[in-house]
Amino acid sequence: MEQDLPPGQIGLYIHIPWCLSRCGYCSFYALPFRRQDFAEYFATLLKEKQLHLDAGIPRLSTVYFGGGTPSLLSPLQINTLLEGIALSPDAEITLEINPIQITQEYAAALSQTPVNRISLGVQSMLDEDLAYLTRRHKAEAVAGKVRILREAGFRNISADFIYGLPASDVRRVRHSLDLLLAIPFEHISSYLLELYEDTPLGKDAARLPEDEECAAQYSAICQMLAAAGFTQYEISNFARSGRESRHNLLYWEGHDFLAWGASASGYYRGTRYQNPPDLAQYYQYIQAGRIYGKPDPEAKPEADYIMMRLRLCRGLSLAEFQQRFGQDFQSPRAAAIKRLQSQGLILCDSESIRLSPAAYFISNSVIADLL
Ligand code: SF4
Repeated sequence: MEQDLPPGQIGLYIHIPWCLSRCGYCSFYALPFRRQDFAEYFATLLKEKQLHLDAGIPRLSTVYFGGGTPSLLSPLQINTLLEGIALSPDAEITLEINPIQITQEYAAALSQTPVNRISLGVQSMLDEDLAYLTRRHKAEAVAGKVRILREAGFRNISADFIYGLPASDVRRVRHSLDLLLAIPFEHISSYLLELYEDTPLGKDAARLPEDEECAAQYSAICQMLAAAGFTQYEISNFARSGRESRHNLLYWEGHDFLAWGASASGYYRGTRYQNPPDLAQYYQYIQAGRIYGKPDPEAKPEADYIMMRLRLCRGLSLAEFQQRFGQDFQSPRAAAIKRLQSQGLILCDSESIRLSPAAYFISNSVIADLL
């Protein structure tokens, strides 16, 4: 049993599955950029928007342009997509940007859109890492790109940072992060590199560092970011005060968010759904006047909620769980809770249950014990 959430907390995710070139480790749904195809996709996004407008879009508190490479959208296209949509006065509007696309002209034009948060795909401040990942920018360009964004008025900028590359070690990760911390960012997302078989770098999966080495790198990252004044608020995310990603918090807190674009996943009125993950099917789907994708038959609202909430450092509120699902969180899990507590992997009090920092790197297995 799931209850409606209070109004005022709803996001929109817009997916742009096009990239200028494919990064060697990428397993996302990403397509090579071709102007004409992109124009057709944009036109379909506008149709999807109109269908939602006809159905009624609540006032949005966040919008997130993700990809792929959403900075392939021109500022005019961004304005067109957002035109006519009601946004909260303090709405957070994020755009993921590939550093190579930042120019003074683009940043100045972007400042004339509602976008007020930038997520920059930095990944590493070492050129060898960037070359290995087949990213197209150079490390030395990053500071200048951030300066351009700041001069254009952007005051909320996040950087992605990847660790756990083949042959990496704590010393290299520290060096790369030191260079990143010399640049003013409000938020840092740090991800462990995973290499899947069907990607060009998949053949290197056996060269990835052992778990102990990756855990040491993760621990060094957490330590350095804390020392630099960032607060960890989620397993992979760190923010300066008040600069947490409000859009991602909607996911982790189990609020509603709409999703537009091929393969985009949303969660609306208690149902998790996905738009068709293929361009032709997506076009047909929208032409047929359909929205809200296909409900995900695998969705398990209670398990999803637990997995998302426990990723947050503040953990899961016991009262909120009871209110949302009409059941007590602890009683059916008493044995697992006792065992994980005695192992120092979770922390409990009368109001909440959360992972201890010692459990962050092995969060998936710890959370699995609580599902
Ligand atoms: S920019 Fe992102 S989505 Fe595009 S190919 Fe690289 S990793 Fe994949």
